[in-house]
Amino acid sequence: MQNSLEIVLPPRDGYNNDIVKQTILEECGMFDCENVEVVIEKRSIDARPRDAIVRIRATVYVDELLDTPPNLTEQLQQADPKKRVVIVGSGPAGYFAALELLLHGITPVVVERGKDARLRRRDLRAIQQFGEVNPDSNYCYGEGGAGTYSDGKLYTRSHKRGKIDSVLRLLVEHGANPDILIDAHPHIGSNKLWVVVQNIRRTIERLGGSVLFDSRVVDFLVSSKENQQRIHGVILENGNTVEGDAVILATGHSARDVFDICLKHNVALEPKAFAMGVRIEHPQALIDELQYRQNPRSPFLPAAAYAVVSQQKDRGVFSFCMCPGGLIVPSATSPGEIVVNGMSMSRRDSPFANSGVVVAVDERDWTQHETRGALAGVAYQLQIEHAAFNAVRTTLQVAPAQRVTDFMVNKVSSSLPPTSYIPGVASADLRTVLPTGIISRLKGALLDFEKQMKGYVTEDAVVVGVESRTSCPVRIPRSRETFESTNLAGLFPSGEGAGYAGGIVSAALDGQNVARAIAAKTFSAEVLPDNAAPFM
Ligand SMILES: Cc1cc2nc3c(=O)[nH]c(=O)nc-3n(C[C@H](O)[C@H](O)[C@H](O)COP(=O)(O)OP(=O)(O)OC[C@H]3O[C@@H](n4cnc5c(N)ncnc54)[C@H](O)[C@@H]3O)c2cc1C
Repeated sequence: MQNSLEIVLPPRDGYNNDIVKQTILEECGMFDCENVEVVIEKRSIDARPRDAIVRIRATVYVDELLDTPPNLTEQLQQADPKKRVVIVGSGPAGYFAALELLLHGITPVVVERGKDARLRRRDLRAIQQFGEVNPDSNYCYGEGGAGTYSDGKLYTRSHKRGKIDSVLRLLVEHGANPDILIDAHPHIGSNKLWVVVQNIRRTIERLGGSVLFDSRVVDFLVSSKENQQRIHGVILENGNTVEGDAVILATGHSARDVFDICLKHNVALEPKAFAMGVRIEHPQALIDELQYRQNPRSPFLPAAAYAVVSQQKDRGVFSFCMCPGGLIVPSATSPGEIVVNGMSMSRRDSPFANSGVVVAVDERDWTQHETRGALAGVAYQLQIEHAAFNAVRTTLQVAPAQRVTDFMVNKVSSSLPPTSYIPGVASADLRTVLPTGIISRLKGALLDFEKQMKGYVTEDAVVVGVESRTSCPVRIPRSRETFESTNLAGLFPSGEGAGYAGGIVSAALDGQNVARAIAAKTFSAEVLPDNAAPFM
């Protein structure tokens, strides 16, 4: 017999699984019963009541064997060396594609321009402390991709729940906290994600796959037969070649050099809309007060988050990648650029709350770069990142910033509040960095957000430029059925850099989908229908 129910608990008890289970059994009058099992299915915070509460959904199983889901990693097979797929990029798309290939016994060979997650940490320190941006090892490049040293928020707008569960379960099987399976807003934290990523690599290697670091792809191996171009491998910077039956291109939103390689081989590319703006940072205590009406917040409540949207002159303006208790990080991939993003540790205990506030941009915004064709959006993005660098004019990664109240009245701030951004911020006029259309929409939206969260526009908050890598300005068109490039046979564009994902979970899902398509098309593997597949 099964009994599903929802309960509400104060935060003090809602995050204690023993208390939750005990309360549920008491509610069902089964506290003393034998052969009873409680499975917590969902947990979310509801901050609408005066005192925030935790809502929990659970199922009680009585006299029933629990339907424990199978261990997904145990279903992977030893790789067949005769079946090889080259995967460029070890981000979530690349690593989850590799796991999916192993489900079909196909050998993944991952080539990654950056370093393994451990060595990569040194380069992150060099960016933070000395402003030295290594173009192959930074917050976007290296093992695990842009997600590794991110916030590790695992929300996605994708509604294919079964598929999302498989990504989350694989993360748990590789070391993530099992709470991500039940939390409404799951989050891993960058101090834990890098460990999970290395465990995924160990699984790939144990089963016969390989991961090559310090291996930047500089060209494709392409042959031409009967008027059809086919890719059969890649050329690395050191001159070595890596060949395979198919190539998955999962290089992320920042790999501009990869688009040049695509153009060289006439791979179809098209411009894609993205979003551009700033990162805003408030004291976390202020956001807690606005959201929970508590200051200080209860020690049992997590740092408060928010999500806000506004429509400004036919464009959406929205909060993006909000990081409660987090840090603003320098996310440039080359010297001479300033790009900011946000991350947090699993405890989310920094005294700051940061979020992107970005405006939707599209082809109307980069007409001056239209000679760059499909890469016009990249040129526009780069121009703004250089402008952010020039606004401060240091060789370090110091970012231009304004108090929010000064930004609203076009005033250069005479002083700036403390921020979490380790390279430091310098007072500048962000109108010299961002186009007028973005500045005016940001101001309109901030006024709107102030109406939604009274106190949001405050002199204690700072806007930092620029939040420019929200998603990829380019898409690599591919077949809807086979996921193959529309004009280079054997090339399978995947993840955020190909324009098919935005965020860790959606990139991982896309990597899985592409790998399944390759298993079916290239190796005629029998793949289970969508919803029945253990990895879907
Ligand atoms: C600081 C920060 C915080 C973020 N926070 C979150 C968050 O909390 N939640 C969330 O869902 N998303 C977050 N994101 C976004 C998320 O990380 C990306 O959406 C996701 O990683 C995209 O996955 P991907 O596999 O498509 O590409 P990526 O993760 O970008 O991986 C691409 C990989 O390809 C490699 N590569 C590039 N060019 C080459 C080449 N020529 N040769 C070989 N290798 C190459 C790169 O080194 C990189 O490792 C964050 C991003 C950043 C930068």
